[in-house]
Amino acid sequence: MGKKTEIHCSFCGRSSSEAGMLLSGMNCYICEDCARLACNVYDENKQKRQEANGKFELDINILPRPKELKEFLDGYVIGQDDAKKYLSVAVYNHYKRILQSDKDDIEIEKSNIILVGRTGTGKTLLAKTIAKKLQVPFAIVDATVLTEAGYVGEDIESILTRLLQACDYDVKAAERGIVFIDEIDKIARKGDNPSITRDVSGEGVQQGLLKLLEGSIINVPPNGGRKHPEQKMIAVNTQNILFICGGAFDGIERKIAQRLNTHVVGFNALNERNDVDRENLLQYIAPQDLKSFGLIPEIIGRLPILTYLNPLDRDALRRILTEPKNSIIKQYIKLFAMDNVTLTIKPEVLDFIVDKAVEFKLGARGLRAIAESIMIDAMYEIPSTDEKELVVDKAYAEEKLGKATLNLHLED
Ligand code: ADP
Repeated sequence: MGKKTEIHCSFCGRSSSEAGMLLSGMNCYICEDCARLACNVYDENKQKRQEANGKFELDINILPRPKELKEFLDGYVIGQDDAKKYLSVAVYNHYKRILQSDKDDIEIEKSNIILVGRTGTGKTLLAKTIAKKLQVPFAIVDATVLTEAGYVGEDIESILTRLLQACDYDVKAAERGIVFIDEIDKIARKGDNPSITRDVSGEGVQQGLLKLLEGSIINVPPNGGRKHPEQKMIAVNTQNILFICGGAFDGIERKIAQRLNTHVVGFNALNERNDVDRENLLQYIAPQDLKSFGLIPEIIGRLPILTYLNPLDRDALRRILTEPKNSIIKQYIKLFAMDNVTLTIKPEVLDFIVDKAVEFKLGARGLRAIAESIMIDAMYEIPSTDEKELVVDKAYAEEKLGKATLNLHLED
């Protein structure tokens, strides 16, 4: 009878009599200590990977669907259904694009968006709100500060600095982020002949921006501002960055009207023409209108999703006061409640605020200023009194606003 040979742990070499029970694999064994050590190494490594990917790790199964994104926007932004829909789909597709496998030849292309709408109709609010829901880095930048390289102002690359800052300079994360560029209309070409005077904030900037939109490797100054020769640059690939642009395009309605009129002689336009809503021509916006306004065709081509925001009517303004999750009125009620004061604002006051916002042509931005003028005295006085209730009616609002009217007119 042959002697039974003792087995050893294939990792630490100890025999079963030293190490206790050994688990067997194919031609190898592992003791309890080595198995535990291996487990720890695995856990540590997994944690490190998760930390590296941080909050930006995406999983197709938990991605917010377009409907969910729109519903989220509905909680904060009144109306603007078309813009919300386009934005929700674009963001969802952006996620899918990031997650796409390169196993086949079908490459999902980037769909940068351009939102056109009067100032104060909710473009920035839409962008900010969707950012709350996003699982990718997000930055808002203003195109008015951008100038061509070498001129006073910020270089185009500074747009990406903001994005890097939004994710603590995690380049991999930034490379799949979303950037909202506000006031894109301000870099439209000023005249038809840009060569007569240098158009540093116009076409030159558009050319610079094109590089970003097209997808290229850009050297980004980590602290923004001007590029300094001694500053160490960070290379960022913009291939997978989604750009959302917003602009008021003041006067573009004229271009739209011209286009609609000239098309009237055409095929089926006659019938359609009677249906044209002259009050809100923006809803008919088409890429050629952006070109007439002064955006270069290459830029327009890189912003394939074009949508619009409606002007805010009385009804929308009234809803903005009370309906959003963090509406102005809800905020006042909360502020007073923190002092144990029950605030009641009568519906007639809401109508009054809307009337004034319309009268002063202040739009949605004016709602807050008007409400603040009405509430300021109470917010100043009440915390130092024993009062437990405040009812704001129209007479009170009129009296308080009476003093502030002059300022509001001046702001206009
Ligand atoms: P824009 O970027 O189109 O110029 P903003 O999004 O900055 O306008 O809007 C200014 C303010 O007006 C917002 O902070 C918000 O309080 C209010 N507002 C504008 N549009 C809406 C809207 N559709 N729903 C809710 N609030 C709005």
